Amino acid sequence: YGTSPNLPTIYALGTPAGTKSAIAILRVSGSQTKHIYESLTKQCIDKLKPRFAHVGQIYSVSKDSRKNRSLVDSPLMLYFPKPNSFTGEDMIEFHLHGGQAIINAVIKSISNLHDPNKLVNIRYSEPGEFSRRAFQNGKFDLTEVESINDLINAETEMQRKSVISSFNGKNKVLFTQWRAKLVSSMAKLTALIDFADDNDMENDTHLLDEIELEILQVNKEINKFIDQLNKSKLLLDGIKLVLFGSPNVGKSSILNCITNEEVAIVSDIPGTTRDSINSVIDIDGYKVVVVDTAGIRNKSNDPIEKIGIEKAKQKFKDGDICLLIVDATNPTIDPVLLDMVQNQDNEQRKHLVVIINKTDLVTLETLDKIKCQLKKDLSNISPLITTVSCKTQNGIPQLLANLTKECQKLTTAREGVEPIIMSQRVKDILTNDIMYGINEFLRNKEHHNHDLIILSEFLKYSIDGIGKILGDAVGLDEVLDVVFSKFCIGK
Ligand code: GDP
Ligand code: ZN
Repeated sequence: YGTSPNLPTIYALGTPAGTKSAIAILRVSGSQTKHIYESLTKQCIDKLKPRFAHVGQIYSVSKDSRKNRSLVDSPLMLYFPKPNSFTGEDMIEFHLHGGQAIINAVIKSISNLHDPNKLVNIRYSEPGEFSRRAFQNGKFDLTEVESINDLINAETEMQRKSVISSFNGKNKVLFTQWRAKLVSSMAKLTALIDFADDNDMENDTHLLDEIELEILQVNKEINKFIDQLNKSKLLLDGIKLVLFGSPNVGKSSILNCITNEEVAIVSDIPGTTRDSINSVIDIDGYKVVVVDTAGIRNKSNDPIEKIGIEKAKQKFKDGDICLLIVDATNPTIDPVLLDMVQNQDNEQRKHLVVIINKTDLVTLETLDKIKCQLKKDLSNISPLITTVSCKTQNGIPQLLANLTKECQKLTTAREGVEPIIMSQRVKDILTNDIMYGINEFLRNKEHHNHDLIILSEFLKYSIDGIGKILGDAVGLDEVLDVVFSKFCIGK
Protein backbone atom coordinates (compact mmCIF):
# COMPACT_ATOMS: atom_id res chain seq x y z
CA TYR A 1 0.00 0.00 0.00
CA GLY A 2 3.12 2.18 -0.20
CA THR A 3 1.92 4.11 -3.23
CA SER A 4 -1.47 4.89 -1.73
CA PRO A 5 -2.22 8.62 -2.08
CA ASN A 6 -3.35 8.67 1.56
CA LEU A 7 0.11 7.84 2.80
CA PRO A 8 1.89 11.07 3.75
CA THR A 9 4.68 12.28 1.53
CA ILE A 10 7.82 12.21 3.61
CA TYR A 11 11.05 14.16 3.47
CA ALA A 12 14.29 14.00 5.41
CA LEU A 13 17.95 14.85 5.30
CA GLY A 14 19.90 11.89 3.98
CA THR A 15 23.17 13.32 5.25
CA PRO A 16 24.05 13.83 8.94
CA ALA A 17 22.26 16.73 10.57
CA GLY A 18 24.05 19.27 12.72
CA THR A 19 27.50 18.81 11.17
CA LYS A 20 29.11 21.11 8.63
CA SER A 21 29.42 19.59 5.17
CA ALA A 22 29.70 20.85 1.60
CA ILE A 23 26.36 19.43 0.56
CA ALA A 24 23.23 18.25 2.34
CA ILE A 25 20.93 15.81 0.59
CA LEU A 26 17.23 16.20 1.21
CA ARG A 27 15.08 13.33 0.00
CA VAL A 28 11.38 13.44 -0.68
CA SER A 29 9.21 10.37 -1.28
CA GLY A 30 5.52 10.01 -1.99
CA SER A 31 2.61 11.13 -4.11
CA GLN A 32 3.21 14.86 -3.40
CA THR A 33 6.75 14.78 -4.80
CA LYS A 34 5.66 16.49 -8.00
CA HIS A 35 3.71 19.14 -6.09
CA ILE A 36 6.69 19.85 -3.81
CA TYR A 37 9.09 20.14 -6.72
CA GLU A 38 6.84 22.41 -8.75
CA SER A 39 6.00 24.64 -5.79
CA LEU A 40 9.64 25.08 -4.78
CA THR A 41 11.08 25.62 -8.27
CA LYS A 42 8.13 27.16 -10.13
CA GLN A 43 9.03 24.65 -12.89
CA CYS A 44 7.16 21.73 -14.38
CA ILE A 45 8.59 18.37 -13.23
CA ASP A 46 8.28 16.93 -16.74
CA LYS A 47 11.32 19.00 -17.67
CA LEU A 48 13.46 16.80 -15.42
CA LYS A 49 14.94 13.76 -17.12
CA PRO A 50 14.47 10.86 -14.66
CA ARG A 51 17.60 9.82 -12.79
CA PHE A 52 19.68 12.63 -14.27
CA ALA A 53 21.20 15.50 -12.34
CA HIS A 54 19.77 18.96 -13.03
CA VAL A 55 20.69 22.31 -11.58
CA GLY A 56 17.76 24.52 -10.68
CA GLN A 57 16.50 27.18 -8.32
CA ILE A 58 14.53 26.78 -5.12
CA TYR A 59 12.31 29.60 -3.83
CA SER A 60 10.91 29.96 -0.36
CA VAL A 61 7.29 29.03 0.30
CA SER A 62 5.37 30.56 3.16
CA LYS A 63 1.92 29.87 4.58
CA ASP A 64 0.80 33.26 3.42
CA SER A 65 0.69 33.17 -0.38
CA ARG A 66 0.83 36.97 -0.67
CA LYS A 67 4.33 37.02 0.79
CA ASN A 68 7.32 37.60 -1.49
CA ARG A 69 9.24 34.52 -2.45
CA SER A 70 13.00 34.70 -2.21
CA LEU A 71 15.67 32.55 -3.83
CA VAL A 72 16.92 30.00 -1.26
CA ASP A 73 19.46 27.85 -3.10
CA SER A 74 20.56 26.54 -6.50
CA PRO A 75 20.75 22.86 -5.81
CA LEU A 76 21.44 19.80 -7.90
CA MET A 77 18.22 17.80 -8.27
CA LEU A 78 17.47 14.21 -9.22
CA TYR A 79 14.02 12.91 -9.98
CA PHE A 80 13.11 9.22 -9.62
CA PRO A 81 9.55 8.56 -10.83
CA LYS A 82 7.84 5.49 -9.37
CA PRO A 83 8.42 2.57 -9.40
CA ASN A 84 12.13 2.97 -10.22
CA SER A 85 13.20 4.60 -6.98
CA PHE A 86 14.59 3.44 -3.68
CA THR A 87 11.18 3.46 -2.02
CA GLY A 88 9.19 2.52 -5.10
CA GLU A 89 7.31 5.83 -4.82
CA ASP A 90 7.96 9.08 -6.69
CA MET A 91 11.13 10.51 -5.21
CA ILE A 92 13.25 13.59 -5.58
CA GLU A 93 16.66 14.40 -4.15
CA PHE A 94 17.81 17.96 -3.55
CA HIS A 95 21.57 18.27 -3.17
CA LEU A 96 21.61 21.53 -1.25
CA HIS A 97 24.57 23.65 -0.31
CA GLY A 98 25.38 22.53 3.18
CA GLY A 99 24.72 25.66 5.27
CA GLN A 100 22.28 25.23 8.14
CA ALA A 101 20.34 28.36 7.10
CA ILE A 102 19.71 26.93 3.62
CA ILE A 103 18.65 23.55 5.00
CA ASN A 104 16.29 25.19 7.48
CA ALA A 105 14.74 27.41 4.82
CA VAL A 106 14.07 24.50 2.45
CA ILE A 107 12.63 22.30 5.21
CA LYS A 108 10.43 25.17 6.37
CA SER A 109 9.21 25.75 2.80
CA ILE A 110 8.34 22.09 2.29
CA SER A 111 6.52 21.90 5.62
CA ASN A 112 4.52 24.99 4.64
CA LEU A 113 3.12 23.01 1.72
CA HIS A 114 1.39 20.63 4.11
CA ASP A 115 -2.30 21.39 3.85
CA PRO A 116 -4.82 18.92 5.30
CA ASN A 117 -7.75 20.90 3.86
CA LYS A 118 -6.54 20.19 0.35
CA LEU A 119 -5.54 16.60 1.29
CA VAL A 120 -1.88 17.52 0.89
CA ASN A 121 -0.23 15.41 3.55
CA ILE A 122 3.47 16.12 3.94
CA ARG A 123 5.65 15.56 6.99
CA TYR A 124 9.19 14.91 8.14
CA SER A 125 10.09 11.22 7.99
CA GLU A 126 10.18 8.96 11.01
CA PRO A 127 13.24 6.77 11.62
CA GLY A 128 13.49 4.09 8.94
CA GLU A 129 10.42 5.24 7.05
CA PHE A 130 12.10 5.39 3.63
CA SER A 131 13.37 1.82 4.03
CA ARG A 132 9.99 0.71 5.34
CA ARG A 133 8.30 1.96 2.20
CA ALA A 134 10.97 0.28 0.07
CA PHE A 135 10.18 -2.95 1.88
CA GLN A 136 6.44 -2.53 1.55
CA ASN A 137 6.78 -1.92 -2.16
CA GLY A 138 8.71 -5.14 -2.56
CA LYS A 139 12.11 -3.52 -3.09
CA PHE A 140 13.82 -5.61 -0.40
CA ASP A 141 13.14 -8.40 2.03
CA LEU A 142 13.71 -7.79 5.73
CA THR A 143 17.24 -9.23 5.92
CA GLU A 144 18.25 -6.83 3.18
CA VAL A 145 16.60 -3.84 4.85
CA GLU A 146 18.40 -4.64 8.08
CA SER A 147 21.65 -4.83 6.18
CA ILE A 148 21.24 -1.23 5.05
CA ASN A 149 21.10 -0.21 8.67
CA ASP A 150 24.18 -2.28 9.50
CA LEU A 151 25.97 -0.85 6.48
CA ILE A 152 25.44 2.68 7.67
CA ASN A 153 26.71 1.72 11.12
CA ALA A 154 29.71 -0.29 9.87
CA GLU A 155 32.91 1.03 11.41
CA THR A 156 35.57 -1.08 9.76
CA GLU A 157 36.30 -2.65 6.39
CA MET A 158 35.53 -6.21 7.56
CA GLN A 159 32.16 -5.14 8.93
CA ARG A 160 31.36 -3.39 5.66
CA LYS A 161 32.28 -6.44 3.57
CA SER A 162 30.12 -8.82 5.53
CA VAL A 163 27.17 -6.47 5.48
CA ILE A 164 27.50 -6.12 1.71
CA SER A 165 27.16 -9.85 1.28
CA SER A 166 23.96 -9.97 3.34
CA PHE A 167 22.71 -6.96 1.44
CA ASN A 168 23.15 -8.82 -1.81
CA GLY A 169 20.64 -11.33 -0.56
CA LYS A 170 23.05 -14.17 0.23
CA ASN A 171 21.33 -14.83 3.52
CA LYS A 172 17.92 -14.56 1.95
CA VAL A 173 18.84 -17.44 -0.35
CA LEU A 174 19.95 -19.54 2.63
CA PHE A 175 16.79 -18.91 4.63
CA THR A 176 14.62 -19.54 1.61
CA GLN A 177 16.36 -22.88 0.98
CA TRP A 178 15.96 -23.98 4.58
CA ARG A 179 12.32 -23.09 4.52
CA ALA A 180 11.76 -25.02 1.28
CA LYS A 181 13.39 -28.08 2.84
CA LEU A 182 11.36 -27.82 6.04
CA VAL A 183 8.15 -27.29 4.09
CA SER A 184 8.91 -30.39 2.02
CA SER A 185 9.48 -32.44 5.18
CA MET A 186 6.33 -31.00 6.65
CA ALA A 187 4.37 -32.05 3.56
CA LYS A 188 5.63 -35.61 3.92
CA LEU A 189 4.72 -35.59 7.59
CA THR A 190 1.22 -34.31 6.80
CA ALA A 191 0.78 -37.09 4.28
CA LEU A 192 1.88 -39.55 6.92
CA ILE A 193 -0.67 -38.17 9.37
CA ASP A 194 -3.50 -38.23 6.85
CA PHE A 195 -2.78 -41.60 5.28
CA ALA A 196 -1.22 -43.55 8.13
CA ASP A 197 -1.56 -47.20 7.21
CA ASP A 198 -2.23 -49.38 10.25
CA ASN A 199 -1.34 -52.44 8.21
CA ASP A 200 2.04 -51.18 7.19
CA MET A 201 3.66 -49.81 10.36
CA GLU A 202 7.07 -50.62 9.04
CA ASN A 203 6.71 -48.38 6.03
CA ASP A 204 5.40 -45.53 8.21
CA THR A 205 8.39 -45.82 10.51
CA HIS A 206 10.67 -45.81 7.53
CA LEU A 207 9.08 -42.61 6.19
CA LEU A 208 9.40 -40.85 9.53
CA ASP A 209 13.06 -41.81 9.71
CA GLU A 210 13.54 -40.32 6.29
CA ILE A 211 11.93 -37.06 7.43
CA GLU A 212 14.15 -37.07 10.50
CA LEU A 213 17.23 -37.37 8.30
CA GLU A 214 16.12 -34.34 6.29
CA ILE A 215 15.57 -32.34 9.46
CA LEU A 216 18.97 -33.40 10.79
CA GLN A 217 20.56 -32.09 7.60
CA VAL A 218 18.86 -28.68 7.93
CA ASN A 219 19.76 -28.71 11.62
CA LYS A 220 23.42 -29.18 10.72
CA GLU A 221 23.36 -26.35 8.18
CA ILE A 222 21.67 -23.89 10.54
CA ASN A 223 24.05 -24.79 13.35
CA LYS A 224 26.99 -24.07 11.08
CA PHE A 225 25.42 -20.73 10.21
CA ILE A 226 24.91 -19.88 13.90
CA ASP A 227 28.51 -20.82 14.67
CA GLN A 228 29.67 -18.50 11.90
CA LEU A 229 27.34 -15.81 13.20
CA ASN A 230 28.82 -16.09 16.71
CA LYS A 231 32.33 -15.80 15.34
CA SER A 232 31.27 -12.79 13.31
CA LYS A 233 29.95 -11.18 16.49
CA LEU A 234 33.57 -10.32 17.19
CA LEU A 235 33.50 -8.08 14.13
CA LEU A 236 30.81 -5.92 15.64
CA ASP A 237 31.80 -5.91 19.30
CA GLY A 238 35.50 -5.92 18.57
CA ILE A 239 38.18 -8.50 19.28
CA LYS A 240 39.57 -8.16 22.82
CA LEU A 241 43.33 -7.92 22.80
CA VAL A 242 44.86 -8.10 26.26
CA LEU A 243 48.43 -7.13 27.13
CA PHE A 244 50.23 -8.98 29.93
CA GLY A 245 53.63 -8.85 31.48
CA SER A 246 55.57 -7.88 34.57
CA PRO A 247 55.79 -4.18 35.34
CA ASN A 248 58.10 -2.19 33.08
CA VAL A 249 58.42 -4.79 30.29
CA GLY A 250 56.88 -2.29 27.87
CA LYS A 251 53.15 -3.10 27.77
CA SER A 252 52.12 0.52 27.50
CA SER A 253 54.85 1.19 24.94
CA ILE A 254 53.64 -1.69 22.75
CA LEU A 255 50.09 -0.44 23.04
CA ASN A 256 51.32 2.96 21.88
CA CYS A 257 53.20 1.39 18.98
CA ILE A 258 50.10 -0.49 17.87
CA THR A 259 47.75 2.42 18.26
CA ASN A 260 50.19 5.11 17.12
CA GLU A 261 48.84 7.31 19.83
CA GLU A 262 49.95 8.25 23.28
CA VAL A 263 47.01 6.49 24.89
CA ALA A 264 48.71 4.70 27.75
CA ILE A 265 50.92 6.21 30.41
CA VAL A 266 54.53 5.16 29.85
CA SER A 267 56.81 5.54 32.81
CA ASP A 268 59.98 4.13 34.35
CA ILE A 269 58.38 3.46 37.72
CA PRO A 270 57.20 -0.17 37.91
CA GLY A 271 53.45 -0.49 38.38
CA THR A 272 52.35 2.81 36.86
CA THR A 273 49.65 1.26 34.71
CA ARG A 274 47.45 0.35 37.63
CA ASP A 275 44.05 0.35 36.13
CA SER A 276 43.61 -0.81 32.62
CA ILE A 277 42.92 1.53 29.74
CA ASN A 278 40.79 0.35 26.83
CA SER A 279 41.29 1.76 23.40
CA VAL A 280 39.54 0.75 20.20
CA ILE A 281 41.74 0.37 17.15
CA ASP A 282 41.40 -0.85 13.59
CA ILE A 283 43.88 -3.59 12.65
CA ASP A 284 43.63 -4.20 8.93
CA GLY A 285 39.87 -3.75 8.96
CA TYR A 286 39.22 -5.55 12.23
CA LYS A 287 37.80 -3.71 15.19
CA VAL A 288 40.10 -4.47 18.12
CA VAL A 289 39.61 -3.41 21.72
CA VAL A 290 43.00 -3.22 23.40
CA VAL A 291 43.16 -3.75 27.12
CA ASP A 292 46.36 -2.79 28.93
CA THR A 293 46.61 -4.48 32.30
CA ALA A 294 48.43 -3.58 35.44
CA GLY A 295 51.81 -5.25 35.66
CA ILE A 296 51.71 -8.66 37.24
CA ARG A 297 54.03 -8.60 40.24
CA ASN A 298 53.55 -11.32 42.75
CA LYS A 299 55.66 -10.00 45.62
CA SER A 300 53.97 -6.63 45.81
CA ASN A 301 52.41 -5.80 49.17
CA ASP A 302 50.65 -2.82 47.69
CA PRO A 303 46.90 -3.59 47.96
CA ILE A 304 46.12 -1.66 44.79
CA GLU A 305 48.65 -3.78 42.94
CA LYS A 306 46.98 -6.91 44.29
CA ILE A 307 43.58 -5.87 43.00
CA GLY A 308 45.26 -5.20 39.68
CA ILE A 309 46.55 -8.78 39.57
CA GLU A 310 43.08 -10.21 40.19
CA LYS A 311 41.66 -7.99 37.49
CA ALA A 312 44.42 -9.04 35.13
CA LYS A 313 43.60 -12.70 35.70
CA GLN A 314 39.98 -12.03 34.80
CA LYS A 315 40.99 -10.10 31.70
CA PHE A 316 43.24 -12.93 30.64
CA LYS A 317 40.20 -15.20 30.71
CA ASP A 318 38.05 -12.70 28.81
CA GLY A 319 40.63 -11.84 26.16
CA ASP A 320 40.24 -13.11 22.62
CA ILE A 321 43.91 -12.58 21.87
CA CYS A 322 46.45 -12.42 24.70
CA LEU A 323 49.85 -10.82 24.31
CA LEU A 324 52.43 -11.92 26.85
CA ILE A 325 55.25 -9.40 26.88
CA VAL A 326 58.74 -10.28 28.06
CA ASP A 327 61.60 -7.85 28.64
CA ALA A 328 64.70 -8.97 26.72
CA THR A 329 66.95 -7.48 29.42
CA ASN A 330 65.16 -9.45 32.15
CA PRO A 331 63.48 -12.39 30.41
CA THR A 332 62.28 -14.46 33.33
CA ILE A 333 58.51 -14.85 33.39
CA ASP A 334 56.88 -14.24 36.75
CA PRO A 335 55.59 -17.55 38.20
CA VAL A 336 52.10 -16.06 38.61
CA LEU A 337 52.04 -15.24 34.91
CA LEU A 338 53.51 -18.55 33.87
CA ASP A 339 50.85 -20.32 35.88
CA MET A 340 48.10 -18.23 34.29
CA VAL A 341 49.37 -18.91 30.79
CA GLN A 342 49.88 -22.62 31.28
CA ASN A 343 46.56 -23.33 32.97
CA GLN A 344 44.20 -22.01 30.35
CA ASP A 345 41.64 -23.92 28.42
CA ASN A 346 42.41 -25.17 24.94
CA GLU A 347 40.24 -22.61 23.20
CA GLN A 348 42.42 -19.68 24.33
CA ARG A 349 45.75 -21.36 23.81
CA LYS A 350 45.54 -20.79 20.09
CA HIS A 351 45.43 -17.05 20.55
CA LEU A 352 48.42 -16.43 22.78
CA VAL A 353 51.25 -14.40 21.29
CA VAL A 354 54.53 -13.97 23.17
CA ILE A 355 56.42 -10.78 22.46
CA ILE A 356 60.05 -10.25 23.43
CA ASN A 357 60.44 -6.49 23.75
CA LYS A 358 63.45 -4.15 23.99
CA THR A 359 65.48 -6.10 21.45
CA ASP A 360 67.53 -2.95 20.88
CA LEU A 361 69.18 -3.51 24.25
CA VAL A 362 70.49 -7.07 23.65
CA THR A 363 72.66 -8.91 21.14
CA LEU A 364 71.28 -11.39 18.62
CA GLU A 365 72.85 -14.30 20.52
CA THR A 366 71.15 -13.27 23.74
CA LEU A 367 67.89 -12.98 21.86
CA ASP A 368 68.26 -16.51 20.48
CA LYS A 369 68.95 -17.84 23.96
CA ILE A 370 65.83 -16.11 25.31
CA LYS A 371 63.73 -17.59 22.51
CA CYS A 372 65.04 -21.10 23.23
CA GLN A 373 64.35 -20.72 26.91
CA LEU A 374 60.81 -19.44 26.27
CA LYS A 375 60.08 -22.30 23.90
CA LYS A 376 61.18 -24.70 26.64
CA ASP A 377 59.14 -22.98 29.35
CA LEU A 378 56.03 -22.85 27.17
CA SER A 379 56.56 -26.15 25.34
CA ASN A 380 53.11 -27.42 26.30
CA ILE A 381 51.46 -24.44 24.56
CA SER A 382 53.97 -23.69 21.76
CA PRO A 383 52.73 -20.14 21.20
CA LEU A 384 53.78 -17.77 18.46
CA ILE A 385 56.95 -15.92 19.62
CA THR A 386 57.80 -12.54 18.08
CA THR A 387 60.49 -9.97 18.80
CA VAL A 388 60.07 -6.20 18.81
CA SER A 389 61.68 -3.00 19.92
CA CYS A 390 59.32 -0.19 20.75
CA LYS A 391 62.24 2.18 20.66
CA THR A 392 63.38 1.42 17.07
CA GLN A 393 59.98 0.10 15.88
CA ASN A 394 61.81 -3.05 14.79
CA GLY A 395 59.38 -5.97 14.41
CA ILE A 396 56.24 -3.86 14.82
CA PRO A 397 54.98 -4.43 11.22
CA GLN A 398 55.47 -8.21 11.62
CA LEU A 399 53.63 -8.07 14.94
CA LEU A 400 50.71 -6.30 13.28
CA ALA A 401 50.69 -8.87 10.46
CA ASN A 402 50.58 -11.67 13.04
CA LEU A 403 47.75 -9.94 14.88
CA THR A 404 45.81 -9.66 11.62
CA LYS A 405 46.19 -13.42 11.14
CA GLU A 406 44.91 -14.05 14.65
CA CYS A 407 41.91 -11.83 13.93
CA GLN A 408 41.19 -13.81 10.77
CA LYS A 409 41.40 -17.10 12.67
CA LEU A 410 39.01 -15.84 15.32
CA THR A 411 36.36 -14.50 12.98
CA THR A 412 36.18 -17.21 10.35
CA ALA A 413 35.86 -20.93 10.79
CA ARG A 414 37.71 -21.66 7.56
CA GLU A 415 39.92 -19.68 5.21
CA GLY A 416 37.90 -17.79 2.64
CA VAL A 417 34.64 -17.96 4.58
CA GLU A 418 33.04 -14.58 4.82
CA PRO A 419 31.78 -13.42 8.19
CA ILE A 420 28.06 -12.92 8.67
CA ILE A 421 26.42 -9.96 10.32
CA MET A 422 22.76 -10.27 11.27
CA SER A 423 20.58 -8.17 13.52
CA GLN A 424 19.76 -9.24 17.07
CA ARG A 425 16.19 -9.79 15.90
CA VAL A 426 17.31 -12.43 13.41
CA LYS A 427 19.61 -14.07 15.99
CA ASP A 428 16.76 -14.28 18.49
CA ILE A 429 14.43 -15.87 15.95
CA LEU A 430 17.13 -18.31 14.89
CA THR A 431 17.50 -19.66 18.41
CA ASN A 432 14.07 -19.07 19.94
CA ASP A 433 11.94 -20.15 17.00
CA ILE A 434 13.77 -22.01 14.27
CA MET A 435 16.22 -24.02 16.37
CA TYR A 436 13.67 -24.48 19.13
CA GLY A 437 11.21 -26.06 16.68
CA ILE A 438 13.85 -28.31 15.15
CA ASN A 439 15.31 -29.42 18.47
CA GLU A 440 11.87 -30.18 19.88
CA PHE A 441 11.00 -32.14 16.75
CA LEU A 442 14.15 -34.24 17.11
CA ARG A 443 13.72 -34.68 20.87
CA ASN A 444 10.06 -35.73 20.59
CA LYS A 445 10.76 -38.06 17.70
CA GLU A 446 12.98 -40.07 20.06
CA HIS A 447 10.03 -40.86 22.35
CA HIS A 448 8.70 -44.26 21.35
CA ASN A 449 5.09 -43.10 21.56
CA HIS A 450 5.57 -39.81 19.73
CA ASP A 451 2.58 -37.94 18.38
CA LEU A 452 2.88 -37.04 14.69
CA ILE A 453 0.64 -33.99 15.08
CA ILE A 454 2.91 -32.57 17.77
CA LEU A 455 5.94 -33.26 15.60
CA SER A 456 4.36 -31.33 12.75
CA GLU A 457 3.52 -28.43 15.09
CA PHE A 458 7.20 -28.10 15.93
CA LEU A 459 8.14 -28.07 12.26
CA LYS A 460 5.54 -25.40 11.66
CA TYR A 461 7.16 -23.38 14.44
CA SER A 462 10.50 -23.44 12.62
CA ILE A 463 8.93 -22.63 9.27
CA ASP A 464 7.05 -19.67 10.74
CA GLY A 465 10.31 -18.50 12.30
CA ILE A 466 11.94 -18.28 8.89
CA GLY A 467 8.87 -16.40 7.66
CA LYS A 468 9.38 -13.87 10.46
CA ILE A 469 12.99 -13.34 9.37
CA LEU A 470 12.11 -12.86 5.73
CA GLY A 471 9.10 -10.75 6.64
CA ASP A 472 6.41 -12.70 4.88
CA ALA A 473 4.60 -14.46 7.70
CA VAL A 474 1.63 -13.68 9.87
CA GLY A 475 2.04 -11.11 12.61
CA LEU A 476 4.11 -9.04 10.23
CA ASP A 477 3.33 -5.62 11.63
CA GLU A 478 4.88 -6.58 14.96
CA VAL A 479 8.04 -7.62 13.19
CA LEU A 480 8.16 -4.46 11.10
CA ASP A 481 7.90 -2.18 14.10
CA VAL A 482 10.95 -3.79 15.67
CA VAL A 483 13.04 -3.62 12.52
CA PHE A 484 12.28 -0.10 11.44
CA SER A 485 12.38 1.58 14.85
CA LYS A 486 16.16 1.09 14.86
CA PHE A 487 16.69 3.20 11.77
CA CYS A 488 17.74 6.81 11.78
CA ILE A 489 15.52 9.38 10.15
CA GLY A 490 16.23 9.80 6.46
CA LYS A 491 17.00 6.19 5.64
P1 GDP B 1 54.86 -1.28 31.27
O1 GDP B 1 54.99 -1.04 32.72
O2 GDP B 1 54.95 -2.73 30.96
O3 GDP B 1 53.63 -0.69 30.67
O4 GDP B 1 56.13 -0.62 30.55
P2 GDP B 1 56.25 0.78 29.84
O5 GDP B 1 55.67 0.71 28.49
O6 GDP B 1 55.73 1.82 30.76
O7 GDP B 1 57.81 0.87 29.64
C1 GDP B 1 58.72 0.85 30.74
C2 GDP B 1 60.03 1.50 30.30
O8 GDP B 1 60.67 0.74 29.29
C3 GDP B 1 59.86 2.90 29.73
O9 GDP B 1 60.87 3.73 30.21
C4 GDP B 1 60.01 2.71 28.25
O10 GDP B 1 60.51 3.84 27.61
C5 GDP B 1 60.98 1.56 28.17
N1 GDP B 1 60.87 0.78 26.96
C6 GDP B 1 59.74 0.21 26.47
N2 GDP B 1 60.00 -0.44 25.32
C7 GDP B 1 61.32 -0.29 25.06
C8 GDP B 1 62.20 -0.73 24.01
O11 GDP B 1 61.82 -1.43 23.06
N3 GDP B 1 63.50 -0.40 24.10
C9 GDP B 1 63.97 0.36 25.13
N4 GDP B 1 65.27 0.66 25.13
N5 GDP B 1 63.18 0.80 26.12
C10 GDP B 1 61.88 0.50 26.11
ZN1 ZN C 1 52.18 0.26 31.42
